[in-house]
This record gives sequence, C-alpha cells and structure tokens, in this order.
Amino acid sequence: MKKFLLLPIVLITVKSYSQTFVQTYKDRADLVTQANINTNLNEFASYGIKKTGTTANNNAATWLQNKYTALGYSASEITTQSFTVSGAATKNVIVTKTGTTFPNTFIIICGHYDTINGPGVNDNGSGVAAILEAARILKDVPTEYSIKFINFSGEEQGLLGSKAYVTNVVKATNPRMDIKLVLNLDQIGGVAGFNNVQINVERDGTPSFPAGMYPSNPSSNNAASAVVSAELSQNIINYSTISPVNSYVERSDYMPFEAEGYVVTGLYETKESTKPHTSGDTYVNMDPVFLYKVTKGIVGAIQYFAVANTDLVLSTINTKKDLKDRVVIFPNPANDYVNLGLDGKGYSTTVVDMTGKVVMQSEDQQVLNTSKLKTGVYMVKVTTQSESTTKKLIIKK
Ligand SMILES: [Zn+2]
Repeated sequence: MKKFLLLPIVLITVKSYSQTFVQTYKDRADLVTQANINTNLNEFASYGIKKTGTTANNNAATWLQNKYTALGYSASEITTQSFTVSGAATKNVIVTKTGTTFPNTFIIICGHYDTINGPGVNDNGSGVAAILEAARILKDVPTEYSIKFINFSGEEQGLLGSKAYVTNVVKATNPRMDIKLVLNLDQIGGVAGFNNVQINVERDGTPSFPAGMYPSNPSSNNAASAVVSAELSQNIINYSTISPVNSYVERSDYMPFEAEGYVVTGLYETKESTKPHTSGDTYVNMDPVFLYKVTKGIVGAIQYFAVANTDLVLSTINTKKDLKDRVVIFPNPANDYVNLGLDGKGYSTTVVDMTGKVVMQSEDQQVLNTSKLKTGVYMVKVTTQSESTTKKLIIKK
C-alpha cells in the first residue's frame, strides 16, 4: 500500500514547486539593492522618535508620501487616512496599484511606521524599508490583482491605525473591501552581530490573545491562512537565501483584519532583538544585510500573490547607477563596522588614514569590520574593473 501512496505525494511536491518558481520573479527580486535598504533605514531614523501624533510622526508620514511620489506613483494612487489619538492627528499612508484582471480585489502589504521611545529602525523601519523597495521595483510591473502598500500609524498604542482602516475603509465600503490576503511586515531587521538566517512566517491560529485587545478571533479563516503562509514560505525559499520558520500571528496590524475573517499572514524576525521600544533600536543594532535578503523574498512573494506579469521586461529601474552613487557608507560616523551599500561581486576596497597609510583592504565585502580603527577621518576607495570612487569615512569611538 505504501508504494501507491508515496508516488502521488512526490509528484505533488514537484508540481507545486515548479508552479511557484518563476525566473522573471527572481530577476525582479534581485533588483532589491542594499544601498536602497540602507538609505530607507537611515532616512527613517533621521525623524527620531515617531510617536503617534507627534510632529516627528507627521513629518515621517510626509516623507513617505514624498518617497512614493519620487518612485513615480501619482497623486491619485497615494492617499492618506487621518485619525486622532488622544486628540492628536496622525495618518495612515496608502498606495494603491491597480490590478489588470481583478482591480477590486486587493493584496495588502502593510507595516507600521510609528515608533515608541526610540527611532524604531528595526521596529518598524525594517518593514517600511522593505515596503518602499517593493513599491519601487513593482511600480511598472502589471499584476492581475490590485496591491495596496500601507504604512500604518498608531500601532504601538494598540493597532489604532489598522483598526481605523478596517473600520472606516474596509468595512465602510459597500460591499466591504474584497481582500485576497494581508501580508504584514513588522520587525524583520534581525540582530547586529548575529548570523541571522531565518525568518518567522506567521499564520493565523494563535491560541490566546490579550483579553479585550481584539473584537473577535474567528477560526473560520485559519485554514486559508495556513495555505497562504505555506505559499509565503515557499516564496521565501525560492527568491531569497533566508529560511522560513513556522510561527503564529500575534500583536500587529494584521489583527483587525483577522478579526473580520480576512486571510492574514506576516513576517517577523526569528532571532528576536531586545532593542525595540528603546532608544537602542538603531541602525547599528540591527542587520541591514539580513533585511536586504528578506526583502528579496518579499518582492518574490508579492509577485506570486498578486500574479505579476511573467514577461521578461528590462525596465528602466534596471539601469545601473554609477559606482559613486551605488557606494553609500552607513553608518557614518561609524564605530565597530561600516556598510558600503554594495551587493554582488567584483569590487575591492581600500581604507587609508589621513597620512595616506593603508589601514584596511578587502574584496567583495560589503560590511567592513572597523573595530580596530581609531577615532578619526579616513578615505574609503572602492574599485571595480571599470570604475573607482572615494568616500570619506569618520570613525567615532
Ligand atoms: Zn512593531
């Protein structure tokens, strides 16, 4: 009997893999750049503590709108939803990319941008940086389903932005909004100095929630969530070098959708940082290279869920930038390490001090260990076969 059972199982496994992997999706996922991830994180950090309703929080919302405009999204595609928290105004920022076949059915990719007690570069600048990079790459890619990229506010005070959105937008439309899937990204930045190679893929079905936090916890949508979470895991395997780990949804912006019976899934770092909700939630305490890798999986997964066009299109976003624009040194001033913002291979790096003495040399290494360098000003020279650029680096101990 076993023989008869084994054969179909093997066939199904092979079939589902070949259905899921698409070379064009991988080519687009590989358009994620470390430099863009770093720029998004550091711009996010520059707004400081973005507590809901503060000036910094509203400045960050304006920054997001400007970023989407710079990516080429039109004024009608970028909308905001205002709400108040303890009398202070704040907003959700929503970008809608209309689908070709199912314009009224949505894939929601969301992550909060408000922070508490600190700059929140991991929680949740990481989710924000990934969403911005996905929105950039998919801007001109036709998808059968519509996509909404949503940056929620008010998450840290109790999912207030996503609750406002579900109550006043999702349920307020008649018929209520048709959502195929909610994919939430919260704290996917990893831990500095740790070999981050896994990401939690969260499915519906957490046994217990804090009392009163959610209006309901239906189980009718659990099976569908398990399916999309398994598909998300397969996409992470196909399009990134990170390994998915099964986990469950918890306290984040998918919950108000879950409470209404929608199908949800999410990503969350497996090695959990201790820095969120403190002043130490900074760029240097997370792992931007891990985020870069995870974002590739996200870009692959969004294409799968939204059914992106599979034609090989070499769009303008693939145009290679000059080396001087590709090398973005972060952090700067730096302490123990510095990231060059480069990915791929074929470059060498030389660091010289102000007397012209070579203090470091490396090949194809995007993160340099600068722990042995003393406080001072250095020049970093990056050379490829055809180009060379020199940037100033400040070490501050
Ligand atoms: Zn968070």
